[in-house]
Amino acid sequence: WQQESYPENDFYNMSIELERGEDGTPLTVSVDYPAGPVKAQIWRAQVGRVPLFLLDTNILDNSLPEYRDITDQLYVTNREMRLRQEIMLGIGGVRALATLNIKPEVYHMNEGHSALLALERICRLKDENDLSFDEAKELVAATTIFTIHTPVAAGNEEFDVGLVEKYLSDYCLCLGISLDELLAMGRQDPSNEHESFSMGVLAMHLATRRNGVSKLHGAVSRDIWKNVWPEVPEDEVPIGHVVNGIHINSWVSKDMQGLFDRYLGPEWAKEPSNGNLWERVSQIPDDELWRTHERRRERLVAFAREHLKKQLENRGALSPEIASASEALNPEALTIGFARRFAPYKRATLILRDIDRLAGILNNKDCPVQLIYAGKAHPGDTPGKELIQEVIHICRQAGLQHRIVFLEDYDMSVARYLVQGVDVWLNTPRRPREASGTSGMKAAVNGGINMSILDGWWHEAYDSDIGWAIGREEDYDDEDYQDMVESNAIYEMLEREVVPLFYNRGADHLPRGWIALMKASMAAICPKFNTHRMVHEYIKQAYHPCAANWESLTAHNFAKVRELTSWKVHIRQHWSDIRINKVEMDEMSEVRVGEHVTIKAQVYLGNLTPEDVSVEAYQGEVDPQGNLVNALPISMSCLESHEEEDDHTFMAAIPCRSSGLHGYSVRILPKHYDLTSPYEMGLILWAS
Ligand SMILES: *Cc1c(COP(=O)(O)O)cnc(C)c1O
Repeated sequence: WQQESYPENDFYNMSIELERGEDGTPLTVSVDYPAGPVKAQIWRAQVGRVPLFLLDTNILDNSLPEYRDITDQLYVTNREMRLRQEIMLGIGGVRALATLNIKPEVYHMNEGHSALLALERICRLKDENDLSFDEAKELVAATTIFTIHTPVAAGNEEFDVGLVEKYLSDYCLCLGISLDELLAMGRQDPSNEHESFSMGVLAMHLATRRNGVSKLHGAVSRDIWKNVWPEVPEDEVPIGHVVNGIHINSWVSKDMQGLFDRYLGPEWAKEPSNGNLWERVSQIPDDELWRTHERRRERLVAFAREHLKKQLENRGALSPEIASASEALNPEALTIGFARRFAPYKRATLILRDIDRLAGILNNKDCPVQLIYAGKAHPGDTPGKELIQEVIHICRQAGLQHRIVFLEDYDMSVARYLVQGVDVWLNTPRRPREASGTSGMKAAVNGGINMSILDGWWHEAYDSDIGWAIGREEDYDDEDYQDMVESNAIYEMLEREVVPLFYNRGADHLPRGWIALMKASMAAICPKFNTHRMVHEYIKQAYHPCAANWESLTAHNFAKVRELTSWKVHIRQHWSDIRINKVEMDEMSEVRVGEHVTIKAQVYLGNLTPEDVSVEAYQGEVDPQGNLVNALPISMSCLESHEEEDDHTFMAAIPCRSSGLHGYSVRILPKHYDLTSPYEMGLILWAS
């Protein structure tokens, strides 16, 4: 059974330093809690060129233990403590940066936990620049990025209204809003008083760029959160994606690094996103690549044996058993690795479902296969711990000892040995729960081949010539049936493809087919799934646009943000008056591909002008249920206006792009040059 220990941090022996004022005393920030102010000191860990600041409430100034312990543990299950933590992270975090005289213009919130930072920014901008709450909120949202990670609605952080009231009602006074107004910002349906307060929804409301962490996860997030934008068609819900990547230099083995230096040229480390450089992987001689990889597998086996020996000693095993650890695993056998958090959705035991069939594969005399596990469950995750227990029991079964091993105390060092030495990296999440996943990328850089469910990053990386897909993107209602189908798929692939390919050796003992697969996998995966490419995408899609928003909205004493805010008030006031009175189309029942259809709409705008709105024809294919699918908006232009009646005619010529049954609708959205997204106001009027 997994045991947890919480060793004391010895701050004198850690490479972190307290931030101090000029007189040498530690700098602190203070945040008000119901029982009084809570202070935090600030540690700095310098990570390369990037300072990482850590808030620490365990100081004598805080007399109450429940406040001193705010920063004690990660992922506490107690809801109240969790809210205390997120208040310190969000509100205290912004104050810490201010105390350090760091003045960011753009903030990136990683998951909803830090979302309160947006409120603290609003508070400060408002007071420092004489802005209204709405103006400051406008500015904060236009300069905030939100990355979402959790692909299940229930996995996102929520708080009961009572807790929010207890901890944040005084803070609302500083913001200049009522508690109800605050709660509304954290609700999918702002008018639903029974909805709890969601940090994810708050973050979505207070950011202008939102993204999931893989293409599939972006789509899943649009589905989960579509109710935040009730009138917006799902595929237009403003959540995009930036797929995760790994820092290659941190995960590639020294041996493989040497090969890259020689055959790709030393610049590969500086330009890891350059696909042309990675093409040169094909020029690494087969025997050299294979010898390098085998060396790493041997290292992994040696490391695993040492690790197992220590585990047995710690458990008080008898010496013959300890000695037998040196016979575990085979340095030449096809090695499958599985290491990650033991969250139940990752299904660590999927490959163990049919033990007899698996034993047949592992114990094949001429073509032996072995399986190395490592991982930890969250201390509060009993089902996860039971999975570990199951794996350990199976490791001890007669006939499987030395073929399946579990390495305890999983950490980055264990992870490195594994991803650098395995032949196959196995990942079996239950779709679509794996937002991205990254360990498979670490294996790929080192020549490991991925075998995974088409979920997260593998959904967009997979191609039949770079690895194996478990299943074909089917989604099941019956989880047990799904486990059966997918575990069978693993056995089939191992028996028919993986093992034969690995052991197909020529006279020179090289598995040429396998080596070709390694090369194709490295050339395809390395240039894309790295942090270099990822950070560039964030810069292009998010950081630069948000920085530009800051510059433009704050210029001339915040002129534009004031103007935009009052325009929004005007639009909201009159939106309910506008109407689409009539929609007409050319009299024709059949249109040929390439021809155009003219659509006209008669629109009543009341106090709004044609410049305030974007009138769009929304056109696409019609499915058997009569719904529009794959529809695209086409902007309509204002043909004529009858000033007295506030009546306008809009028109568009729609190109017919494909054959089949087509349909269209007309809709109106607010339009303003400084609006960062046409959907952000949540206003769309559809023709009835
Ligand atoms: C990469 C890594 C992970 C993430 O693994 P996934 O399979 O992507 O969930 C977890 N823990 C450690 C120590 C890692 O190095």
